[in-house]
Amino acid sequence: EGAEDPAALTDGIHLVVDALKLNGVETIYGVVGIPITDLARLAQASGIRYIGFRHESDAGHAAAAAGFLTQKPGICLTVSAPGFLNGLVALANATTNCFPMVQISGSSERHLVDLQRGDYEEMDQLAAAKPFVKAAYRVHRAEDIGRGVARAIRTAISGRPGGVYLDIPAAVLGEVIDAEKGAASLWRLVDPAPRQLPQPEAVDRAIDLLAGAERPLVVLGKGAAYARADELIREFVESTGIPYVPMSMAKGLLPDDHSQSAATARSLALKKADVVMLVGARLNWLLGHGDAPQWNPDAKFIQVDIAATEMDSNQPIAAPLVGDVGSVMEALVERSKPGRITAPPQWREELAARSAQNVAKMSGRLKAAETAHPMKFLGALQAIRDVLRENPRAYVVNEGANALDLARNTIGMQVPRHRLDSGTWGVMGIGMGYAIAAAVETGDPIVAIEGDSAFGFSGMEIETVCRYNLPIVTVVLNNSGVYRGDDASATDDPAPTALKARHDLMIEAFGGQGYQAKTPDEVATALREALAAGVPALIDCVIDPTDGTESGNIAHLNPKGITAKH
Ligand code: ADP
Repeated sequence: EGAEDPAALTDGIHLVVDALKLNGVETIYGVVGIPITDLARLAQASGIRYIGFRHESDAGHAAAAAGFLTQKPGICLTVSAPGFLNGLVALANATTNCFPMVQISGSSERHLVDLQRGDYEEMDQLAAAKPFVKAAYRVHRAEDIGRGVARAIRTAISGRPGGVYLDIPAAVLGEVIDAEKGAASLWRLVDPAPRQLPQPEAVDRAIDLLAGAERPLVVLGKGAAYARADELIREFVESTGIPYVPMSMAKGLLPDDHSQSAATARSLALKKADVVMLVGARLNWLLGHGDAPQWNPDAKFIQVDIAATEMDSNQPIAAPLVGDVGSVMEALVERSKPGRITAPPQWREELAARSAQNVAKMSGRLKAAETAHPMKFLGALQAIRDVLRENPRAYVVNEGANALDLARNTIGMQVPRHRLDSGTWGVMGIGMGYAIAAAVETGDPIVAIEGDSAFGFSGMEIETVCRYNLPIVTVVLNNSGVYRGDDASATDDPAPTALKARHDLMIEAFGGQGYQAKTPDEVATALREALAAGVPALIDCVIDPTDGTESGNIAHLNPKGITAKH
């Protein structure tokens, strides 16, 4: 009798939405299509905010950024095969960056896919996802949806955060089961990301090393930013006086103008430090793998990381501190008696002197760029910097080659977690996804500083920005090319690096506000106006096509061979 009463029935789609809601999911980033369109509709009707994108990679990047900003897995929803693969780019990138994210994709009929009978969008998505993600799960029965969602969320945020793939075949989404049985199959996670405390001996080992150091250095990474242990980090750094270098997404964890920041003496700091404490930062390519001569060959490393297997991945770790950043910093502060660790004043002075030198050197370049015509990257960026100083709450999204390197160094951050950039892969294409998530999750204004090439990867999402009327100002540093815009071509075709666009006209097609800026003053005026209006805007900054270097700061990564240009 109960089975005939529709109120007593539920289905896979309802169970997915109910399970997500039960676990506090407030937003889904996705692209609809077979078989998940009704899932998006129902999520929206049930009070989950659904943000619809134009391409799954962008929806995925948005989910990843949401994960970084909220410590809850960002949810990306895609269709099968091609949509799934588009999303997978972002899911893999999230995993590489240690951002918590869950990609839920609909998939085709198992009995057809597994015999390769040629189904609509046929693909073994579970197998395809596995090498690129922290974990991949498939749900085969509607009664397992609650379990699948719980498992995906816990895996994404516990331990080292990462990307999780959850495969839900169309048949499971449509499966009808008894509503009571369905409700009883869902649960809410208890303590999904438990604290992980370090061993006291491990803490004391690190304290001993730091206490004996002549030239100690702290490196703050985006894992430290993610951990939200801002006050403990500040207390440890300030009470010990140890100089620190922030990785790009850790900028603002302590304000960039902090007296202990060695960012402007970075090369010297790395070369000379004798005890280095890495806090939520890996010794990967971004830190030259910890190798000499960039680093002091005798440096001893302390590493604070939630992933035990990160230790010794590049250099011997003299004092591993395995635990979450908050718990480790708390233990360090508690167990080091006041005055036990103090950075020798000589070391601090040496770094300060080098900083002063470097800043003086840079100021000449900055000054020259202020008046250069056509406008240089640094001319536009100083204007952006000045306007951002008036708006310290604004989030900065940043990608490109020169646009990334120069903006990172020119634009100081005052607030934690307000800079989102190309990250561990140095990837292009995160721009609009990250910007949209930052706007949706925080409600604060966003300034996306984009190279013209980088912007192109996600540029169509300015339609999404306009459709949801998000307060995002996209600033395209347009030097008409990848790296530069003045490469000669060997044929009648444009050079491989050449580009050509008036991006300000694009946003007008979607109802946003477009600006073209040819001088730093025009950049500043447009940015001020756009931020004050709080509406979707795009400023196309006309940059000298001869300004910019091949691959920015990482030209050395290009293979040399016999035809190398550099
Ligand atoms: P960056 O690129 O800024 O140097 P990485 O992404 O290389 O930073 O490193 C981040 C590290 O932080 C990863 O090794 C990750 O395991 C670690 N991590 C992430 N969250 C936490 C946390 N809550 N506590 C401790 N370590 C964390």
